[in-house]
Amino acid sequence: MYKLRGHHLFCLLGYRGMGYSQEYVENMTGLHQTLRNNPKTLILLVKGPDQLCEKFPNSGEYHCQDDRIDERDAVILEKMNLKIGQILSWEEIESHIRKHVIPADIQVVCETCSWRSYGVCEEGIREIHNGRGLRKVE
Ligand code: SF4
Repeated sequence: MYKLRGHHLFCLLGYRGMGYSQEYVENMTGLHQTLRNNPKTLILLVKGPDQLCEKFPNSGEYHCQDDRIDERDAVILEKMNLKIGQILSWEEIESHIRKHVIPADIQVVCETCSWRSYGVCEEGIREIHNGRGLRKVE
């Protein structure tokens, strides 16, 4: 079972193989592929740093314990009608996204994220709405 924090549920939708370091990318690509190949994979929703944060490089500005990031997690989980401590499959998470999230939400909940302007996270939400699931990372 994977442990993920709220906002990383959205980051996975927009993931296109970019990240903070090679190790970070390898870890995220592995998780992304597992969820894509087996949407029944279970996820425990956690508070604070998770299995993606674990690979955040020492060289970068560590933001994984910042209050503003915890706040983003909380807003996203509330929007999706989910709670910390809940265990559910990736396909159930996709279903919550279809029910409770629209692409434009990224502009609000992720306002301060440096990746937002690429537009891939909004695109990822659109693809879930269109029934396409996670996109293959080239
Ligand atoms: S904008 Fe940033 S925090 Fe929001 S889903 Fe994309 S990468 Fe994640």
